[in-house]
Amino acid sequence: MPLTDKFGRAITDLRISITDRCNYKCVYCRTGNEGALYGDLPFDDYLRMARVLVGMGVMKIRLTGGEPLLRKGVVEFVRELAKLEPQGLKPRSTSDLGGAAQAAPFPDNVPTRSTNDAVGMGHPRGVDEGVRHSIPSDKDLGNLDIALTTNGHLLADVAQALNDAGLTRVTVSMDAVDPERFARITRVPNGFDQVLAGIRAAKKAGLGPVKVNCVLLRGFNEDQIIPFGMFAREEGVIVRFIEFMPLEEDRMWSQASVVTLDEIVARMAEYRPLIEIPRGQSETARRYRFDDGEGEIGIIAPVSHPFCGHCSRIRITSDGKIRTCLFSVWDHDLFAQMRRGATDEELAEYIRGVVERKEERHHIGEPDFVPASRTMVHIGG
Ligand code: SAM
Repeated sequence: MPLTDKFGRAITDLRISITDRCNYKCVYCRTGNEGALYGDLPFDDYLRMARVLVGMGVMKIRLTGGEPLLRKGVVEFVRELAKLEPQGLKPRSTSDLGGAAQAAPFPDNVPTRSTNDAVGMGHPRGVDEGVRHSIPSDKDLGNLDIALTTNGHLLADVAQALNDAGLTRVTVSMDAVDPERFARITRVPNGFDQVLAGIRAAKKAGLGPVKVNCVLLRGFNEDQIIPFGMFAREEGVIVRFIEFMPLEEDRMWSQASVVTLDEIVARMAEYRPLIEIPRGQSETARRYRFDDGEGEIGIIAPVSHPFCGHCSRIRITSDGKIRTCLFSVWDHDLFAQMRRGATDEELAEYIRGVVERKEERHHIGEPDFVPASRTMVHIGG
């Protein structure tokens, strides 16, 4: 039975924070005085949690933090995750395939992933061009979609290894395209060039299309909207603007600090108009192209245009707690269940009970808003 909450939302997306340590101290996220507050678990424990959840219908896993690339062993972890087979995306039997495909029987002649497959639709290495359309795509093959959110500072050196291990794609957070402003936001000198190198290495490694996420704060970096539009076109990345949410350590959020979707679209039009393009129902970002068809922009607008009704996500924190919403005021100790010796079936039962209580929606900006029990860096963004 698929994992579904009481509002009928299927849970197919899992975010795992593998540490709440971070090498950046972004001013809108952290105070700069606090470090990690929670521990992290051995990768085997996250792997077991992931395996149970994939068995319950999870099809996409995003690794996050803190800064996930601070953890040694992340490449090996991705390699293990890539062996998990999501339910509902099982390999088709060879008898379902066309004759040409049967000549290259599945799965023996079909590598699980192609390093050339930038968008997950490529054909497996070594397969004749002529049979390309008869060969199932990665998704048909039942591979898990494994993504990573990183600040990109350490990405350049590991991008290829991550791709080879089975990572599907990467999202890099970057809140300015001006190096000096970037340093002021992150409170780390000379990070910009390293992050840019990380983005380029990820593209080269086949981890595209690379998404670059930018959180906008009024009076702080909204002048970066147009430069980011140009950056998306020049670098061939999808730039996604995110509305600032009340999840910061400093508790300095206000409605007025949020640069909204409508404002972003209007500001970008001063450079070039954006045309909205279709998106998947569970996609959090609204998608746009520039009017000349070149360059993609996304806008994630949880404050001005909430999408809770389509939320398909749960999170596991670095210390093994389940959070059913970014704005949860409590979490659920999955690791404690493991520690007391629960079987996989008992873990699945526990998870079902937790998901049953998933919040209907967030209450950002409403009088009854209660701040989340953890801030973003300690949840896993
Ligand atoms: N270190 C990784 C990174 O930089 O992407 C992963 C963790 S970071 C907390 C994940 C994302 O959350 C980043 O894109 C960051 O900009 C975003 N973020 C942090 N605080 C936020 C807030 N209050 N509102 C919206 N996004 C936020």
